[in-house]
Amino acid sequence: MFCKVSSCAGLCFGLFRAVEKVFSEGPENLCFLGNLAHNQILMQKLKDAGAVVVDDIASVPKGSKVVIRAHGEKRDVIENIKFLGFDIIDLTCPKVKFIHKIVSEAESLGKTIIVIGDSKHPEVAGIVGWCHRSFVVGDIEDAFKKLRIFKLLSGGFCVVSQTTFGRKHFESIFDFLKKNLKEVEVKDTTCQDSEIRRTELEKESQVYDLIVVVGNSLSSNSSKLFETARGICKNSIHVERPSELPVGLKRYESVFITGSASTMKETVEEVKESILNLWNL
Ligand code: SF4
Repeated sequence: MFCKVSSCAGLCFGLFRAVEKVFSEGPENLCFLGNLAHNQILMQKLKDAGAVVVDDIASVPKGSKVVIRAHGEKRDVIENIKFLGFDIIDLTCPKVKFIHKIVSEAESLGKTIIVIGDSKHPEVAGIVGWCHRSFVVGDIEDAFKKLRIFKLLSGGFCVVSQTTFGRKHFESIFDFLKKNLKEVEVKDTTCQDSEIRRTELEKESQVYDLIVVVGNSLSSNSSKLFETARGICKNSIHVERPSELPVGLKRYESVFITGSASTMKETVEEVKESILNLWNL
């Protein structure tokens, strides 16, 4: 029996930085506009320490410091928080902040912004909230459908990506846009962190009997890692915590365990311990 944990396991740079800051501030005074990460274990820890999570600004308790999470936030939401007199702890990942800057500057030059990503993802909603004329494109079919509208627009286009969008997928969409539109400026804003995790997983999925992806099913990064693993190794499972491990894993002789960008290293290690315990039974 052999069990290996990914060398990339643990929170990505942006989330690690955010979690460190939150715990150094003391979570008891903090109010989050939405979950800091798609990670129920982490969110429970923060709530147990006194942090509050709300869905909108109107629900922020008096005297709280409002946390802008790593995914970033729309410009008008940040302005409203300031207007209402709340202190802000801005934990937007610097890589996401850079995208906000790109789209704001491109729009001031008269360009239309195209964000390649999932329109329902909070990071994408945040990016779109830093410009006035933008479109979100989720896949080639979507790009094809929107092409007719794009051709009516003048001033050129600036194309950026959701950070956790797969680079290959991003490249196929921007190739399509470049072939079919004039004046397209492309900024590859995919995050290296996701690429490194995916590349390692692709390699290890060809070697190990069982692949375990640890992460929340709502996490885009986590679901994409699971799809990658399952496409190569049919014995792939997706769990958020050790208690979700299915029965019958003892029959596998080698296991590779990885975690998403929003999964803490300690959770990945706990999953490993549980699997090793099954073997030792
Ligand atoms: S995945 Fe990358 S861009 Fe997104 S929060 Fe983490 S480090 Fe930042």
